Amino acid sequence: MKIKFFGIISVILSFTFILSVGIFPSNAAALNESKDDNIFACAEELKNEYINSALIQAQPMDADCETRNYEATIYYNQIIEHIDTYNDELRSHFSGAKINDEGYLVISLCCETDFCENYIKENFDFQNIIFEKGKGSYYYGQQKLNEINKKIASLQEEKVNGKNINADEKEMMELYPCTKYNDEDNTITIIFSVSEETEKAIEKSIKDKNGKLACDSKAQYSQSEISEIKKYNNAVDTFKSSILNEPDISYCTNSKSEYIIEDQAATEPWRPGRKIMVYNNPNEGTGSQLSTGYRAKYKDNGVIYYGFVTCGHGTSVGNSVYMENDTDPAHKLGVILARSYENTIDVSFIRMTNSGYSNGNAIYYTSSQPGVTRPGTVLDGTQATASLNSQIYKSGQTTYLTIGYVNSTSFAAYSGNVYFYDMLLSDRIMGGSGDSGAVTYITNTGTVSGKAVGIYKGNTSNKSVFIKASNIKASFGAEAY
Ligand SMILES: [Zn+2]
Repeated sequence: MKIKFFGIISVILSFTFILSVGIFPSNAAALNESKDDNIFACAEELKNEYINSALIQAQPMDADCETRNYEATIYYNQIIEHIDTYNDELRSHFSGAKINDEGYLVISLCCETDFCENYIKENFDFQNIIFEKGKGSYYYGQQKLNEINKKIASLQEEKVNGKNINADEKEMMELYPCTKYNDEDNTITIIFSVSEETEKAIEKSIKDKNGKLACDSKAQYSQSEISEIKKYNNAVDTFKSSILNEPDISYCTNSKSEYIIEDQAATEPWRPGRKIMVYNNPNEGTGSQLSTGYRAKYKDNGVIYYGFVTCGHGTSVGNSVYMENDTDPAHKLGVILARSYENTIDVSFIRMTNSGYSNGNAIYYTSSQPGVTRPGTVLDGTQATASLNSQIYKSGQTTYLTIGYVNSTSFAAYSGNVYFYDMLLSDRIMGGSGDSGAVTYITNTGTVSGKAVGIYKGNTSNKSVFIKASNIKASFGAEAY
């Protein structure tokens, strides 16, 4: 089914939720031209998004707002479940949803009529939600995004293994292509990482409506700059022939390493003061310091195991998981039963084997101050998917309790040699070395209960990245309980 992405008049919600109205050209080629004119603005915008790198705590929402944020997330999940299940008009006309500064859910619809708005009002028991004019179909935009991401991930894997990849594809993969999902119109931008020198060469060049560059006769270029421009153009061509060629995909470059994640597991000598350590063999004296994710059950060969999820990096199947830093068997919590580190997930499952510990759902670090583990949020044993701009919490061993807001629900980036996609990105740094795997959740102030939305993975230059609980369930088979 081909979806028309471009309406005549659309309303764009900016990230700061200031409403602006724009008139868009009604055909794809014209839109594409205006987008490619913006390639430098796009690169500039990316740079400005990543300026600071310190952990900055968000001010928590007030209690009423947090309760609405929680309810809005539940509504959001109901809508997403509906469009995933039913091939109806809402699937085509739902343009996305986000939570506004007051904690209310804002649903964007791209209908010409009020059919979908009425449909939602009649079929869902929602209160206090806001409707906005949207652009494009979230469902079909996400499907296309997933198709592109799978192909990039598989090319990346083949690049690392040196198999089934041709010279053009290999050259394109040297530029670490990453998808960026444009929530305001459900289109996709492909970002190629280039050196700062290359970016300068690109800045003095002329781009055409197909996203390709030509040298400006008024500017001076070195031989290496010319070859870098050629490399970028080849990458755009290769993307179109090997991955997907659609007119509403735009292309952009980025000279910094925002799309490289630094995983935040610490590997260091065995020493006091850390909560969860994962060892191949405790006598080796070193291990990965990680944080516990949410309580989960994992099905293997028809048998259900109970335990917790944590990150996949820093672990191997069969590793031992300890709660204290000694070799006392009483301190052994369990073993890594399964692990996956690819595509949308960086996760492992800890099978609990120590009868001295039961599997709890109360969040451990309940303050941003060290050592505070008094009763706070208790997870209700279910999981949810966080919406754009929703408030999320992370609790981990290094930075304890942190609060931030969801900046992207479709973040893609490279971690070492692996391309990851469909992750959550926060608006700030929410963790540090040793927080990897930490539970990430939403809370409902009124009832002190919470729902798992994922686990902390690592940081880009000034934001944090989280693996979604929904992907851990769908692609790995571990589910919150
Ligand atoms: Zn409609």
